[in-house]
Amino acid sequence: MKTQYADVLDQKIFKVVTQAAQELQLECYVIGGFVRDILLERNHKKDIDIVAVGSGIELALKVSSLLPHQPKVQVFKNYGTAMLRYKDMDIEFVGARKESYTEESRNPLVASGSLQDDQNRRDFTINALAFSLNADNFGALVDPFNGVADLEAKLIRTPLDPDITYSDDPLRMLRAIRFATQLQFTIVPESLESITRNAYRIDIISGERIVDELHKILATSKPSTGFLLLHQTGLLERILPELTALNNVEEVEGHTHKNNFYHTLEVVDNICPNSDDLWLRWAALLHDIGKAPTKRFHKKQGWTFHGHEFLGGKMVKKLFARLHMPLNQKMKFVQKMVMMSSRPIVLAQDIVTDSAVRRLIFDAGEDVESLMTLCEADITTKNPKKFEKYHKNFELVRQKIVEVEVRDQVRNFQPPISGEEIMEVFKLKPSREVGILKDAVKEAILEGEIPNEYQAAYDFVLAKAKGMGLV
Ligand code: ATP
Repeated sequence: MKTQYADVLDQKIFKVVTQAAQELQLECYVIGGFVRDILLERNHKKDIDIVAVGSGIELALKVSSLLPHQPKVQVFKNYGTAMLRYKDMDIEFVGARKESYTEESRNPLVASGSLQDDQNRRDFTINALAFSLNADNFGALVDPFNGVADLEAKLIRTPLDPDITYSDDPLRMLRAIRFATQLQFTIVPESLESITRNAYRIDIISGERIVDELHKILATSKPSTGFLLLHQTGLLERILPELTALNNVEEVEGHTHKNNFYHTLEVVDNICPNSDDLWLRWAALLHDIGKAPTKRFHKKQGWTFHGHEFLGGKMVKKLFARLHMPLNQKMKFVQKMVMMSSRPIVLAQDIVTDSAVRRLIFDAGEDVESLMTLCEADITTKNPKKFEKYHKNFELVRQKIVEVEVRDQVRNFQPPISGEEIMEVFKLKPSREVGILKDAVKEAILEGEIPNEYQAAYDFVLAKAKGMGLV
């Protein structure tokens, strides 16, 4: 752990804050995540929280007046906070406060308080650490809850009784799990038990805030850590019941199926080294959610999940809406990935034909690489022979994608002969026949019967139209 943090505090901004506080005759401290990350030697944050024992707004205005170019101060009167930007840092000033909570809301009643009051209302011991910015003890660490010891032992612990901390603001339960995942820390047992006891309180938290934490868990290198903790504490059941519904293995007449919940978590972890795309990671998380409602047992086939991709795609939209996630292109992308999630797998299990690859590119369009990445992550078989075979086949599919792309250019497929041209040549009005001819051209190209070129398409349409008695 870093003990020489003096160089960080040596920056001009902190000196100016000290001077401003001296002029206003108030105490102030830098507190929270910034301090934690410096001590962890983590890339420290560009958001700096400064707490003043007094008015944070006055302190911010004074700091600005002492800085070159007097940066603009944004004042949030209702919250008693103020913010200014200096170089690449966002610096937020707040008056030290005491909080009291009611049962229904995570928004507390607030009164001014001491530094100690302010530290008491923090979520974790490691987030309650403060450096003094006061002239008489500049740089001194104020650590009333042994946060440094918890940083060293890699522990997430609440400063007060966890039942109070979590029940006051249930979002902290998700924050605990998110920090445990991000920092690879352990949540102390009494805290974990308290989260389990208070899990029902998550219901008062807005979808937006929940999703914010889920995004942060998904952005780590091993999101399964977070999802397993969410599951273990009963939070996942309340937030994403579609996932916990996958957590079973049934046996009928000696036939079992895999546990799709643990499989899903493996897929999410598998995709992380290969893609930072948050929405592709969401797709990995949700790719099998249609399996719970479509699961059937048939005497001949054993367990089936017919149509789970399609139903899963529909469930994605409902899930996004429930959590107040945007119903925009990102949602459509996740939906498309879920709906197509079995396509390359089927390909890789079989002989890889040009026409199947052409169809895959046609249907996936510009997302074909993302789909391939998702499907490779989906290979979780523990049978080494199958594992190798599927990966080899995927390699082949990837090669074929490149070849077919160069030759046939079906990714953003534009038919070489348009509907207007077909109408003109055969003197047809807009009609069913025009649609049939257009589709036939597309099919012929995708099947590899004709190349993706004008003359070939023209000749093909002519022959087809003759066959239909149109000419
Ligand atoms: P990150 O930026 O990775 O989310 P952070 O700890 O800085 O980490 P912020 O949300 O910026 O998180 O919060 C800054 C500080 O405010 C925290 O370190 C913590 O002291 C306090 N804090 C934030 N949210 C809460 C909360 N829900 N309950 C109690 N304290 C909180």
